[in-house]
Amino acid sequence: MIKIENLFKKYKNITAVNGLNLEVRKQEIYGFLGPNGAGKTTTIRILSTLTLPTSGSARINGHDVLKNPVQAKKEIGVIHQTRNIDPELTGYENLLIHGLLFKMKIKDIKKKADELLDFVDLKGDMHRLASKYSGGMRRRLTIARALIHSPNLLIMDEPTAGLDAVARRRVWGLIKRIRDRGGTIFLTTHYIEEAEYLSDRVGILDKGGLIAEGAPSKLVNDMGKIAVDIEGSDGLEAEFFETRGEAAEFLSKLNKNAVIRRANLEDVFIRLTGRRVNPAANQNK
Ligand code: ATP
Repeated sequence: MIKIENLFKKYKNITAVNGLNLEVRKQEIYGFLGPNGAGKTTTIRILSTLTLPTSGSARINGHDVLKNPVQAKKEIGVIHQTRNIDPELTGYENLLIHGLLFKMKIKDIKKKADELLDFVDLKGDMHRLASKYSGGMRRRLTIARALIHSPNLLIMDEPTAGLDAVARRRVWGLIKRIRDRGGTIFLTTHYIEEAEYLSDRVGILDKGGLIAEGAPSKLVNDMGKIAVDIEGSDGLEAEFFETRGEAAEFLSKLNKNAVIRRANLEDVFIRLTGRRVNPAANQNK
């Protein structure tokens, strides 16, 4: 569904995307992870035809975003971090306007809007002003809006940033259902547990290039699925082992406070990038 080959994006003295190669299969949820400034948003902007790459190619379902941007754009629904819904319109009107932008027939838009508002559980609120919606309702409306023209690929930049735990889980449910109905999802998130729960595969980006890729469970197993957290002078440090037995043996020789636990994708992320992700750094975007 997505094929990115040798992609570069350079701004004056910054290389935001640095020879990126990446493929996303049909009906896959692909989590695109990376520390602040790794190049995720730039890649998403190139895929959604908002930014021109310096060189290389990106294709969506076979359509080159540079040579055939109109076709490529029809393939995707995008949920950006910043572009929000119109609070002066009702949820229903927000969808109608968006359908018109895609030059859909009004009869088809109404039918699709009805179906999608039902899908995101906003049918009962469709004629209320979007300004009266909660954060979670707004986010679900942006998902419905991105699906109005029946795209094959949904690109989501931080789909749950700023939502509370309950609203976040509701969005997770929607994302899985979109995939189960045949959709493909490419998402970025700073919440690594979100990527671990949702993604069939993740790609970890650093300094504009992929440094790891695979199913979350495979990446964790490759590192060592058992972690030992040790209290160090800089806070907690972790060591990784294949089995609990090996971890226990290590622990028995250690003269420090330590805890054995299952390793997770965040451990892989920190190990590879050497940094902790900071969701708070992204809230004000
Ligand atoms: P975050 O997690 O903070 O959203 P990101 O992975 O999405 O980060 P990008 O926003 O793609 O990263 O930025 C990659 C690099 O390119 C950063 O160093 C950023 O400062 C730089 N950059 C992005 N857009 C521009 C621009 N329009 N002009 C100059 N530099 C830019």
